[in-house]
Amino acid sequence: MSWETVIGLEIHVQLATESKIFSSAPTAYGAAPNTQANVVDLGFPGVLPVLNEEAVKLAVRFGLAVDAEIAGRSVFARKNYFYPDLPKGYQISQYELPIVAGGHVDIVDDEGVPKTIRLTRAHLEEDAGKSVHDQFPTQSGIELNRAGTPLLEIVSEPDMRTAGDAARYMRKVHELVRYLGVSDGNMQEGSFRCDANVSVRRAGSDTLGTRAEIKNLNSFRFIEKAINFEVERQIDLIESGGAVVQETRLYDADLDETRAMRGKEEANDYRYFPDPDLLPVVVEESTIAAIRDSLPELPEQRRARLESMGLKTEEADTLGSQRALADYFDAVVENAD
Ligand code: ADP
Ligand code: MG
Repeated sequence: MSWETVIGLEIHVQLATESKIFSSAPTAYGAAPNTQANVVDLGFPGVLPVLNEEAVKLAVRFGLAVDAEIAGRSVFARKNYFYPDLPKGYQISQYELPIVAGGHVDIVDDEGVPKTIRLTRAHLEEDAGKSVHDQFPTQSGIELNRAGTPLLEIVSEPDMRTAGDAARYMRKVHELVRYLGVSDGNMQEGSFRCDANVSVRRAGSDTLGTRAEIKNLNSFRFIEKAINFEVERQIDLIESGGAVVQETRLYDADLDETRAMRGKEEANDYRYFPDPDLLPVVVEESTIAAIRDSLPELPEQRRARLESMGLKTEEADTLGSQRALADYFDAVVENAD
């Protein structure tokens, strides 16, 4: 029996702002624990969030670069859940009305054939803090410097069919956010991390199988390995008479396997509702036009231009993939002779 793999990714990108999304605390990485969380990030009673305009502009910048619709009006919602690293008891996110809807990112498939990955949406949200389990022998620490850091969550349609597709898509989005200056994309520091939703179905079927979600993949190599393991696991499970359950799993790179973490919540478990502390976000047409005018030449356009200047495809690819390198090359060409 032959099987088809179906993959959709949710990528969390830390936006390159100096301060948090709803407070004036700095976002710089590496400060001593709990020195960069103010009363808003700590969820003190009676404090009010104030939206960071730059975070909104960076989200619009990304949306325009992927040909998405920019919502003239979007809404922040409370996503309610309890976790020690979430003192407020809810995360501020966007739900029904995200700032960016649709759009696409183009990749090539395993055979090198061009393929379009549709985006569902990209929404703004705040990051949570972190529970630290390896610092104290008998206790866990709570680190809230990351709480309130602005994130753009980029959600794809389930358009990928192989682990290779997923890794190439992730690289494309990574390249794009760095090019645009939307994020530093630093994967070791958690600025760019990915959840992979994976299911399998019988070849030829057009209904989706039950998916498992593999959380927090922060390397291109691990995403491929995690998906390949997960696909084998699901196929073995079904072929031996079992069924895939919808759940959240984590990838253990040392053992090269995915393990169940928790049952998957449904949207209605979170009791989303519009955050009464925040007004709807209105982005004027003139702001969108100004951001569109400020977009740099995008990586694909740049590669095409470099090739048209006589560079080989691989050369154009290497130069084009990093903006600073390509800028340097252009400057050298401009100053030649
Ligand atoms: P959440 O994970 O927060 O519940 P969604 O239901 O919107 O959010 O789905 C998230 C991701 O899962 C999307 O990228 C979507 O393309 C992907 N996805 C949904 N159903 C499947 C499926 N059956 N197989 C693989 N990916 C899926
Ligand atoms: Mg998800």
